Amino acid sequence: MPLNADQAHYLFSVMRLAVGARVALFNGRDGEWTAEVVEAAKKAGSLRCLGQAAPQLNPPDLWLIFAPIKKERTDFIVEKAAELGCAKILPVQTEFTNASRIRQDRLQAHALEAAEQCLGTYVPEVSDLQALQALLKGWDPARRILWGDESLVGPAQTLAGLTPGPWAILVGPEGGFSEAERAQLRGLDYVTPVSLGPRILRADTAACAAITLWQSALGD
Ligand code: SAM
Repeated sequence: MPLNADQAHYLFSVMRLAVGARVALFNGRDGEWTAEVVEAAKKAGSLRCLGQAAPQLNPPDLWLIFAPIKKERTDFIVEKAAELGCAKILPVQTEFTNASRIRQDRLQAHALEAAEQCLGTYVPEVSDLQALQALLKGWDPARRILWGDESLVGPAQTLAGLTPGPWAILVGPEGGFSEAERAQLRGLDYVTPVSLGPRILRADTAACAAITLWQSALGD
């Protein structure tokens, strides 16, 4: 199996692996495989696959919908959503979202690095930025939405009563959702508002807290 220049640089210059070293491989679909380095040069090399080390482990059917915020914090949200086991990550533009575009390829690369970091075999897909309205228009109501609603002042809700099935978590941008968006969300019967506690959390913290609460109630 040939390696491209980036892979060869990482394995042989950064990790300093030599011929004979073992590496773990995954492609996001077929579990984890063990391979051996058979050729190692500065910008090229190759591996020989030795066999499967672990089966594919897919996360539960949980998506994250979030409004991009500042660059580093958006990176953080994608990285943590991948680590905490979201199957798909959907950036949306809301009325108060400042970002008008995102670097989808960069965010997808962050999701891959996060999966590698936590030894996951699944890499969540990061979709392109789309308008919240467009997303809701084409939404399949069989996937319910858990909406982090900071106006529900009170203790963090237990999600123990939620029924299993496909879910998506929705968190807003720094300025929250507009009144019109809030009214729309309140009117959708597949949307469940939830309190994440009595304090207003930053959007990145809210995303992590909501995913963790959901995983504790319905995840694996
Ligand atoms: N609207 C707020 C304001 O301007 O003061 C702040 C929005 S908050 C920084 C960003 C998002 O995090 C919110 O839209 C909501 O989805 C989520 N969030 C933050 N704190 C929360 C809480 N205590 N309960 C539920 N969701 C929360």
